[in-house]
Amino acid sequence: MSVKNFPLSKVQIEELEKRYPTPFYLYDEKQIRENVRALLRAFSVFPGYTEHFAVKALPNPFILKILKDEGLGADCSSFTELLLADMAGIRGEAIMLTANETPSREYLKARDLGAVINLDDFTHLDFLEKTLGSLPELVSFRYNPGPLKGGNAILGKPEEAKYGFTREQLIEGYRILKEKGVKRFGLHTMVASNELSLDYHLETGRILFELAVEIKNKTGVKLEFVNLGGGLGIPYRPEQEAVSWEALAGGLRKLYDDIAVPASLGGLAIHTEYGRPITGPYGWLVARAIHRKSIYREYIGLNASMADLMRPALYGAYHHITIPGKEGEAAAGKYDVVGSLCENNDKFAVQRELPPIEVGERSGDFVVIHDVGAHGRAMGFNYNGKLRCGELLLREDGSILRIRRPETVEDYFATLDLQALSRFGT
Ligand SMILES: *Cc1c(COP(=O)(O)O)cnc(C)c1O
Repeated sequence: MSVKNFPLSKVQIEELEKRYPTPFYLYDEKQIRENVRALLRAFSVFPGYTEHFAVKALPNPFILKILKDEGLGADCSSFTELLLADMAGIRGEAIMLTANETPSREYLKARDLGAVINLDDFTHLDFLEKTLGSLPELVSFRYNPGPLKGGNAILGKPEEAKYGFTREQLIEGYRILKEKGVKRFGLHTMVASNELSLDYHLETGRILFELAVEIKNKTGVKLEFVNLGGGLGIPYRPEQEAVSWEALAGGLRKLYDDIAVPASLGGLAIHTEYGRPITGPYGWLVARAIHRKSIYREYIGLNASMADLMRPALYGAYHHITIPGKEGEAAAGKYDVVGSLCENNDKFAVQRELPPIEVGERSGDFVVIHDVGAHGRAMGFNYNGKLRCGELLLREDGSILRIRRPETVEDYFATLDLQALSRFGT
């Protein structure tokens, strides 16, 4: 069981709405900090543990500053994400560039920031050297275990995934770079998404530790770190259970002792690049129920849409919904909770049992959508001319800081040359 709380009462949301109208995202700083501390405590069983937070999950520099303050680095996969990490003061090897089909400009920026460069393909050995003019001192490779590793619902089967090197390419790649004088090496993989099975993640650890031993035996390269990637799930459904940091770190440490330590790889550092389990459970989308519709099904229409939160439409993902002030109330019926996009999959919930819901632009019930602190607002878009909502941070002292304002029509039109338009055509 996972408990689905929201840190503000209905009265507090009403008060907040006077300054910041719904819809908005709200993140809880205290819970994020406590979670990161628990993570670092659990993984302190490893030497040199580093968590590079996957910036794509919550690309807001205010959040990144909080995470940096707690000791985390950043995992970036684009030029803009590198800028975001830099903006938050995350520098040097605290940044890992794990990109694919990487343009030269990203490698150049990563080098300028002193970031760890993680190559996605064998051909990038040459591409990187040509782009930078020389090879960096430290290089990491992304491994695709192919049929060695079972599939996962979102990322699919590794052998059908576009990412990473084959095992043979890896061995060859380390050999080549060693000959070229590269001194420091890392190994990375990312094979799952939103996976809640502890065994699945332990098996990933085992595969990487065994591979580190094989690399040492075949090439003489002693890896400095293995990066286990992200992909750790969170309990979106109340009946699901979170993977505990202690169980994960403890299980990995046991495999490490069995595999890496006897092969004289006892100094091997463990890195991760979790996104979802760092901020996911500590973010909520707060909207208002503005319309009710009764046809072949019952509908509740919100003032937010899938432009603000795409996961339900994209993956059929479940997000828990609560109605502030009505938490304990019995269900009044089954509803589809929907947004206003001209897309029938613009549904936050399908056939969900909910208490009776008041509707109205000013007086309707608030609707809280849970577990959207990762891959939530970040995946938003502007289809149908929809403007994405803003982001609020609940500080540890209970105050609220707006960390991103909502978009305006001016933002939407900012990429158009309106002067050229006025001269254009008739
Ligand atoms: C998306 C991604 C992550 C983070 O995944 P989460 O599911 O948010 O933990 C980490 N590494 C890479 C390479 C990714 O693409």
